[in-house]
Formats: sequence, C-alpha cells, structure tokens
Amino acid sequence: MSLLKSIPKVDKFINNKEFSGFSKSLITQISKELIIKLRQDILADNVDSINEEQLVQDVVKEYNNLTSPSLQSVINATGIIVHTNLGRSLINEESFKKAMKIATSYNNLEYDLKKGKRGERYSHIVKTLQALTGCEDAIVVNNNASAVFLILNTFSKNKETVVSRGELVEIGGSFRVPEVMSQSGALLKEIGTTNKTHARDYKNAINENTSMLMKVHKSNYTIEGFTSEVDYEEVVKIAKEKNVIDYYDMGSGHMIDLPFNLNQEEPSILKIMKYNPSLLSFSGDKLLGSVQAGIIIGKKELIEEIKQNQLLRMLRVDKITLALLEDNLTSYLENKLDDIPTLKMLNTSIIELEKRALLLKESINSLCDCEVIQTQTLIGGGTTPNKKIPTIALAISYKNYKANKIEKMFREQNLITRIENEKVLIDFRSIKENEIYKIEAIITKVFN
Ligand SMILES: *Cc1c(COP(=O)(O)O)cnc(C)c1O
Repeated sequence: MSLLKSIPKVDKFINNKEFSGFSKSLITQISKELIIKLRQDILADNVDSINEEQLVQDVVKEYNNLTSPSLQSVINATGIIVHTNLGRSLINEESFKKAMKIATSYNNLEYDLKKGKRGERYSHIVKTLQALTGCEDAIVVNNNASAVFLILNTFSKNKETVVSRGELVEIGGSFRVPEVMSQSGALLKEIGTTNKTHARDYKNAINENTSMLMKVHKSNYTIEGFTSEVDYEEVVKIAKEKNVIDYYDMGSGHMIDLPFNLNQEEPSILKIMKYNPSLLSFSGDKLLGSVQAGIIIGKKELIEEIKQNQLLRMLRVDKITLALLEDNLTSYLENKLDDIPTLKMLNTSIIELEKRALLLKESINSLCDCEVIQTQTLIGGGTTPNKKIPTIALAISYKNYKANKIEKMFREQNLITRIENEKVLIDFRSIKENEIYKIEAIITKVFN
C-alpha cells in the first residue's frame, strides 16, 4: 500500500527538468499513461520499489519514439533497382525542386492562364504524352491498379472482358486480375489455357455483350515450354475487326528500348503505340522512373468517357505528382535519359560499377574481407520477370560471422544488402554514386 502512496503525481512529475524543451501536452499524455501502468503493476504485485528517475527516462524514450520519423531513407545495396519494398523508383532532385516550387506556391493546377477560367487538372501532362507517344489523349490516376479498375469499371460494367488464362496474374500486394475485375463490375471471360492461347480463342469469345479484349503483362512469371500467346498487335487487329475495345495493362511499361536486350519479347510503349491501340495503362514508378501514378493513354473518345466516370474523382492525383510526372516525361521527350535515376542505374556500365566497387574496397580493406565480384541481379517491380542483368558487387565477410548477422548489422544502419552464396553482397547496380562514402562510413562504424 505504501508503494501506491509514493506514485508520482502527474502535475508535479511533468515539471522534471529533464522534460524542458519538450511539448508539455505530449509529456503529460505519456506520463499519465506510464503512471497508470505503474499503478497497475503495483496492484499486480509486480513492483518492489518506485524508481522515479527510470520513469523519467521511460517517458523521454517514448517521447522520442513518437516524434522521430518512421519513414526513413535507406541505401539500397540489394541491386534491385525497382524495389517495391524500398520505394520503387527514385525521383531526380532537380525534378523535385521544380515540384517543390509548385507545391509551395499557388499554381494553375485547374486554372487556364490564357482564358482566365477554370482549367483541367490532367491537361498538364497531355501535350507531353502526345508529343512523346503520339497518343490522342491521356489521363493520370493514383497508380496503375486504379487505372485498371477505372478502365474496367468505365467500359465493362456488366459486360464481358476477354482475358487469356495465361494472363490472370496475381502481383504483389494481393492485386489479382480476376478479383479486381469482379470488384469493378466487369464480367471476366477467360479464354485459352494456362500455356496456350490462340487468336481464334479471342475471336470465338466475342459476342454482343463483349466490351473489351484485355491483355495483361505477365509481371512476375514466365511460361516456358509448349506455349503460345497472341501478340498485342494481333489483339488490336481482332478488336478493330469486331468493333470492341482493346486494352493492354502493361504493368511496368518502359517508354523506350532497354539495355541488355531486356525488351526482346516485351515491346516498349513507343513500339506498342505503332499498333494503334485503343487504351494502354502503366505505372509511373516502375521502369518509367517517376512518381507513383497510373498513366492511361489512348483514343480521345475513350479517355473522354473515363473522365465522365465519378470514380475518377476518388482516384485523382495531386499537383506534386503531376509536377514530377511532367518533368520525367519531358526528360524522355528531350532524350535526357540520365536525368531519370532508374534508367541511369540501368544504363551504368559494368566498367563504371567496377571502378566504384574498387574504390570502396580500397577504403574498407583493412576492416573486413572483401572481394569485388561480377554477378547478376533482377530489375524488380514486376518489370522483366526472371531476366537477370549483369552487375558488380562487393562480397563482404568478417571474422567468422554468419552472413545474416552481418546483413543485420548493416540493416540497423539503414544499409540494405542481399545475401548470395553465404556472403553479404553490396551490389552497386542500385547504389547512387554519392552514397559510396556513406557506405564507407557505415562499414567503418559497424566493424570498429
Ligand atoms: C504493377 C502492376 C500493376 C499495378 O501497378 P501499381 O502502379 O503498382 O498500382 C497492375 N498490373 C500489372 C500487370 C502490374 O505489373
């Protein structure tokens, strides 16, 4: 009972000088909670004595925990450039400065400066996309998942959308094509088999209730062996013949040809546009290398119809997204590909990566065992499934430590690595040039 009597009183406790400079209301809130817990612990006979100093430290710790940012920057040394868990594509700093100017001042987001009247939010990226891809019109939504949903809901509610059984994909984050379809109100008409779908399957599936032939990018798997699928070029032709819409959910969707023969079987957006498609959609933050967004391009009358859908209001993007995206698309238009970090990383030569690896090796050689190796990595983000690209890494070992122990030591310093053949790899494919000295500092700290 005497312990209960010596529980600190909140209004006195919060005046402790350790709390000076802190928000009084937050300190009070945390103190109240911890003191209530202390009382419960005493009543449950779990406490022998009250240590007020410890209580103060606990309050400070919780205060710091609540007020320090949860979202932090990390160094991506996994080699996977479009790493969904690590934030996918990076934004160019210059783009960000332009976007900051827009976001921190009033702007013409929905204002026509020439006419002095209300303007169109989506107009800002249309002219760039038209010049770049030759599309008639375009619209941007929150992400590509919303683009798929919006298109299905607009054109295929209670109508049939034809999809090959080989393309009924599930991508990360529980995005499953059949389920998205049923949520959108579209009726799924499956055709072909898992390994083979023919042009005649599309033709035979079309009836008076068909609205659309949809192709879905096989983002995270390949089907090998006895297989055939119908090229999108052919799907477009069949759709035109039968007077239905064709739509390709390109997933990652790269604007231009990629290095390492990556797009041998996967034509770029610019190539696909030559087929004269009705509608295409793709992500903003996968291989396009911009901000999270879903971009829809295609025929004017179809985009007009999408604009009439009430759902668009719920999926619309912010000025910051539009500013970043516009700048990224302009970089493509001007062929300034090095301004797009995702492409810059993809295009860095093995010789250059090796140079950087040797530089780092030199500076940490005395701290641990490290060896420059040539290996392979994936691009990630459901871009080019199973296709590996060459890369350079530093393979690190230290005393007799297990690889996962070293990986954890690095991770605690926000350096994310990968393990290959029982070795921790620092893969230079996804590391920015100016991060090398930071990695050096982290390794020095960890092994000292
Ligand atoms: C990634 C992907 C999506 C979803 O795109 P988000 O931009 O992540 O919403 C949809 N379809 C395919 C085929 C994809 O690869």
